[in-house]
Amino acid sequence: MSLAKLANLLFPNINNKPEDFLQKYATRNLNPQACVTRYAPSPTGFQHIGGVFAALVSERVAKQSGGIFYLRIEDTDQKREVEGAIENTVQTMHKFGIDFDEGMLSQDTEKGNYGPYRQSQREEIYKTFAKSLVQQGLAYPCFCSPEELSELREKQMAQQLTTGYWGEFARCRSLSTEESLQRVDKGNKFVLRLRSPGSLENKIDFVDLIKGHTSFPENNQDIVLIKGDGLPTYHFAHAIDDTLMRTTHVIRGEEWLSSLPIHIQLFDILGFPRPTFAHIPNVMKQEYGSGKRKLSKRKDPESAVTYYDKQGYPPVSVVEYLLNLINSGFEDWRRENPTTDYHEFKVELDRMSKSGALFDLVKLSDVSKDIIGKMTTHEVLEKYTSWAKNFDPEMFDLVSKNEATFRDIFAIDRGGPNPRKDFAKWSDVKEKVSYFFDTFFVHEESQKIESLNEQQHAEAKRIVQTYAQNYTHTLAKDAWFEQLKTIGAELGYTADRKAYKKSPTEFKGMVAEVASTIRLALTRRSNTPDLHAVMQILGENAVKARFEKFVSIP
Ligand code: GLU
Repeated sequence: MSLAKLANLLFPNINNKPEDFLQKYATRNLNPQACVTRYAPSPTGFQHIGGVFAALVSERVAKQSGGIFYLRIEDTDQKREVEGAIENTVQTMHKFGIDFDEGMLSQDTEKGNYGPYRQSQREEIYKTFAKSLVQQGLAYPCFCSPEELSELREKQMAQQLTTGYWGEFARCRSLSTEESLQRVDKGNKFVLRLRSPGSLENKIDFVDLIKGHTSFPENNQDIVLIKGDGLPTYHFAHAIDDTLMRTTHVIRGEEWLSSLPIHIQLFDILGFPRPTFAHIPNVMKQEYGSGKRKLSKRKDPESAVTYYDKQGYPPVSVVEYLLNLINSGFEDWRRENPTTDYHEFKVELDRMSKSGALFDLVKLSDVSKDIIGKMTTHEVLEKYTSWAKNFDPEMFDLVSKNEATFRDIFAIDRGGPNPRKDFAKWSDVKEKVSYFFDTFFVHEESQKIESLNEQQHAEAKRIVQTYAQNYTHTLAKDAWFEQLKTIGAELGYTADRKAYKKSPTEFKGMVAEVASTIRLALTRRSNTPDLHAVMQILGENAVKARFEKFVSIP
């Protein structure tokens, strides 16, 4: 009985040959150094920060080489599909400055000549290659039920053998073609398995662009190629899709590294050239007491991309932080090139940490403070307003009604060589600006000043009272500061550090303490941007009223 007959019975509607597809999806006409990479998520609807990390690496590698970066949707596990997930992926990546040259655009639309870019629509292609493998005796139908497979597994475990469908345990491997035909004819359910030619005795040497040189035994498992539902497994689809879509560099999570023997075997059996592989380390989290662990969707809110939206981290901050994780040299590069677009930085896979990228929100905040620090007032106002619109209605209302004031507030200490760096994310703004607005300040003002003991409190009131009596609101910054020093001197505070160091008992303190006290009276904060600017924005009436209020605290 011929294998051709079996192949026809298994795949009656497949009339194409592998060559037809290999010709249809011709080699891309690109420069030899151009890399073709892809992002290949399952449409589960959850955008993990690790996905952005992986997509960013792939996108950078493609774009910086003049290549192509595309989006393939791996939806062969249809149970996991969530509506709208594809659009959501495209939009999420776009927000992080990651755009696809080809691939799915939405649920039903795509662009590019190498599609369909959705695996569920490629059934005919997979089956064409599967049929050809059956014809060559390299794949066979397996009729084992889930119960039989778990029995087999138990038996292997009891004998301390490697589990799985291999060697003499691969029962359906030895069915005669005749018998297989009869079973298919009878309507018995089957999956299609690879007839693995591999042996654990043989080693394959391999160079991964990130992990370096690796060596592992050949695959000897008769893995499933086509599942009972007619769709391919990840392994089979990967080999076919990455070949036909002409991917040059398969950049993916390190969880796939252990399947590499299977993939290499499949590429070889199918007669495909092997692509270059780069396995990206997982995004990890340092946990006190228990070391590093994978960033978890369940335990860590920061694993979700939506976390960064809600907190209001500018997407570019997240991107630059991730670039730091990809290549630690990014930080130095950024320091040397403070205003250059990050796209100019060259990502190098062989310089990526092999062991795991440690995700650190404190570091992200530092990166983000620098980035917001470099924004113009206009950008800050615009970005803050649009964030507040989505995530903080109270602040959106405030900023909408007080645009000019917000512009003045955001302009303080901005634009110079040492810009303010007090916002890491837009949700920080409220706490940093609330004192400008009586609606919030009245509440803060009525709180006890915990930081002062009785004596300090009395001295603070004395300072504020004298200052309030003598101060002129309209002075420009330098004159204002001179006045502060003069009033300070009358109160016994000096601006002369040397004199103060020499005979500290002669003075009450340094004039900076006077400024701090004024700041405390006006803002209830020990840190604010430039005090003169703060006072100008508050306006004379508010300043005076706040001084009065402060002095009257019992
Ligand atoms: N769909 C696979 C995943 O989400 C893709 C892995 C790959 O990039 O090949 O893990």
